[in-house]
Amino acid sequence: MVLDIVQVGNPVLRARARALSPNEIRSNTTRKLIDDMRETMHAAPGVGLASPQVGLPLQLAVIEDREEWLKDLTPEELTLRDRRPVPFHVIINPRIVDFSNDKAEFFEGCLSLSGFVAIVSRSRRVRVEYLDEDAEPKLIDASGWYARILQHEIDHLRGNIYIDRMLSRTFGSINNFKQFWQSKAIASVQEELDSTRAPARE
Ligand code: ZN
Repeated sequence: MVLDIVQVGNPVLRARARALSPNEIRSNTTRKLIDDMRETMHAAPGVGLASPQVGLPLQLAVIEDREEWLKDLTPEELTLRDRRPVPFHVIINPRIVDFSNDKAEFFEGCLSLSGFVAIVSRSRRVRVEYLDEDAEPKLIDASGWYARILQHEIDHLRGNIYIDRMLSRTFGSINNFKQFWQSKAIASVQEELDSTRAPARE
């Protein structure tokens, strides 16, 4: 079943999601939720979806970066983003236990802020501990776009949205992103938008 995706302004996106117990994880309710979130993410389409985005403040997110979604990007763009297909998986009670100080800047969007994007600086590499759908402990060492997805989804479970981390002068509609910025290198976009400038105090 495709679920409704909650939009920004709903308090559930600002709450700290609660951890799930092993019994809850293995329950039919959680299995059904995972199936529904998978379907909802595909229908959107998106590369990740966190429980708060379907109105439930639980520490659970689904992730999948499909081969077919990479077709719209040139080989150069894929290399620059360090983006490769990621098979479907669920992360429950995740924790970022290590991250690189080396960061990458790219435009990103969110299904809960439909129609907008902004440049967000994120660690290029993260190590994440989590439980899978059988409540088994797992560890991921992720890099590139996958590391970005993990940081974005885990942010949702802490009540954070990309707009809290974005370079706010780069925020804009997807249509304007396509018209004005998509074809440009991130460094030139940042320069043209004077992305780190703070508002002047008058
Ligand atoms: Zn999001």
